[in-house]
Amino acid sequence: MKRAYFFIFLTIIALAKISSCLQNDEFPVRIQLSGRWQLGEVKQIIMYVEDYSPKTGEMKAYVDWEGYAKLLQLGYFPVVLEDTSAINAQYALTHPDDVMYHNYTQLSTWAHNLAVSYPSIVRLDSIGPSVQGRWIWCLRITDNVSMNEKEPEFFYGSTIHGNEPVGTEFLIWLCDSLTQRYGTNARLTRIVDSLDLYIIPMINPDGNALARRTNANSVDLNRNFPVPDGVTGEDGTYSLQPETAALISYLSQRQTSFAANFHTGAVVANYPWDFDTVRAPDDALFIDRCLAYSSRYPTMYYGDFDQGITNGYDWYEADGSLQDWDYHENCALHITIELSNTFWPSDASLPSIWANNYEAMVHLLELAISGLHGIVIDSVTGNPISARIWFDQPGRWVKNQMPHGDFHHQFLAGTYSITVVADGYYPKRVTGIYFPHDSASVNLTVALVPADTIYFSNFEATNGGLTTQSFTFYQDWEWGTPSLSDPDGPIYVPSGSKLWTTRLSGDYRDSSQSRLILSANLTEHTHAALVFDEWYRFQAVTWATVPSVAHDGGRIRVATSSDTVTVKPPWGYVTQTSTYNFLIPSGDSIFADDEPGTPWHKSIIFLDEFCGQPISIWWDFGSSTRNRQLGWYIDNVAIVEPSSALVANDFVENLPEQVKMEISPNPFNSNCVISIEIANVAELLNLEILDVNGRSVHEECLHAKSGVLRMVWKPTEDIPSGIYFVNAKTESQSITRRAILIR
Ligand SMILES: [Zn+2]
Repeated sequence: MKRAYFFIFLTIIALAKISSCLQNDEFPVRIQLSGRWQLGEVKQIIMYVEDYSPKTGEMKAYVDWEGYAKLLQLGYFPVVLEDTSAINAQYALTHPDDVMYHNYTQLSTWAHNLAVSYPSIVRLDSIGPSVQGRWIWCLRITDNVSMNEKEPEFFYGSTIHGNEPVGTEFLIWLCDSLTQRYGTNARLTRIVDSLDLYIIPMINPDGNALARRTNANSVDLNRNFPVPDGVTGEDGTYSLQPETAALISYLSQRQTSFAANFHTGAVVANYPWDFDTVRAPDDALFIDRCLAYSSRYPTMYYGDFDQGITNGYDWYEADGSLQDWDYHENCALHITIELSNTFWPSDASLPSIWANNYEAMVHLLELAISGLHGIVIDSVTGNPISARIWFDQPGRWVKNQMPHGDFHHQFLAGTYSITVVADGYYPKRVTGIYFPHDSASVNLTVALVPADTIYFSNFEATNGGLTTQSFTFYQDWEWGTPSLSDPDGPIYVPSGSKLWTTRLSGDYRDSSQSRLILSANLTEHTHAALVFDEWYRFQAVTWATVPSVAHDGGRIRVATSSDTVTVKPPWGYVTQTSTYNFLIPSGDSIFADDEPGTPWHKSIIFLDEFCGQPISIWWDFGSSTRNRQLGWYIDNVAIVEPSSALVANDFVENLPEQVKMEISPNPFNSNCVISIEIANVAELLNLEILDVNGRSVHEECLHAKSGVLRMVWKPTEDIPSGIYFVNAKTESQSITRRAILIR
């Protein structure tokens, strides 16, 4: 049997050599593994896995002669397989007009024609050239394609492995379906109208032209992305390839909140992480969305994997994958869909695979319409502002996108919280964002109140008046210009060149007891928030044992004349201290080992409970007797309050006894000014606008010391004409007025 395979194999290799199109020093083998524990050893030898079934231990992999011999030596007895993929690929490449598969030239012509034929909903773009100069095409499909609308963005990509071209065909057919049936098919029309679709049918055109997995530099592009643990891609001589760099740049400039990329070699929906055993923060959501796909593709659902899905690492470890990078870096819910067991199936099989996948591919797009769709606006002008949003779940910062100030994220059923921060505005915590079911949509407008500064320093001209306090052991806080020589470190200073850090020269010391102190007088203030930029890396807490305790780390305390209290961001600290932290008592909450690769981020601590008195803010850092890291970096420290400039002084002498409201113009067409007179100083005013069914369409909390508040209501496009009730409420007063919107 083995000999027979061998002769078939030799014939194929001979054919491949003649065609000279194929990479001909690799061939498929079947290897029987006794268990997962052999994966590591085998992966050192083979070139890549085509398929691996955790249930049966059977692996299909590609090897070269050297690998084949090594496997024999180790007793694996690899069985050489007929390379149907190579035969199909060779035929497709030599007979491009006879097969359904599009080669690169045909794909280019098709893409150009599509954009010309449907100019109002299709735009052809290129993310950049491949190694051999083939432009990588991206089709943007959406209504009003010439505009940037506040719609969720979805990314479909394929063929990052050049010899896995089924997804290329399916994305071509999907684009054809969306365009040809736009305006006649309700489902597809809704998708085009509601989403901003980015579709890259062929990420690796050089690999496709060579009928091989890797690009023209022989690099596996799906191992070439930065890995979330801060190290680079898998291959030893890692260098960012042009295709990878182009995709990183393209996706980073967009806001794709949901994404999938297509492969072949197995039939399964696979989700992050690929690089580590730890589960992603959105694990349950990933499983739900993968099941949404697999349950609509019976071959997948009833195939080699339980319910047709797998965690990436559970299947086999892959470092530097596109899905890991996109999820980690852009917070995009990115999954990988494997469409067929054969890398390059015969084109005759494509229509049936397509028929079996169409429903799932369309359904994923429908799911992308669900989720949280927010905008951030200025509470006075109603204009969108550039902001950063912290999602408690999955514990990530995202930026909103101008010109609409919109942001999007998928959520399962449940109640969620976010925190929104923008330069020059008072930060805002929004809680109780409720999703009644797993594919619900919630529209949210977050109005930020302009802020007045109580304290600010960027630590350039001075140290900002901060002081340090020494205890028994080392005091490491220092002000100045840090050494940024460590490539895994903070790399840059957020403003200028100076900041405060636990040792400018590099790592903090063992047994550190370090306190940094900012004194502030909040006697005159009723609301205040501490906002600062921070970067930290402490001795690692092993990912696999989270939640765990950490030896090294920091926390923030506020000291008043009567008490000291540990304060924390609304989303809490990372973990607790161990008994080995030399400053912070065991079991207290701390910032600990950050997720590696995390960039500088904002931290916010609301200080309302300390207003009306002088306070000291302490950044306390402690380390254990061994293991050092780069430590804690702090810049742009501000204490802000809601702006008093919002309050007109004209009415101070003649305070009305209750809340009064005026809306003008009324009826209105695109926006109206809501003016509220408020009697009681220092009360928070809650403003809510409800539709006739009592559903909230807009809510915000305004701070009024006295006088008149003016706020512009600019209903978003999804709010229809009709009667709305504007309700303003303080602790003691409430008033409601009608506003009539006529579009
Ligand atoms: Zn692949």
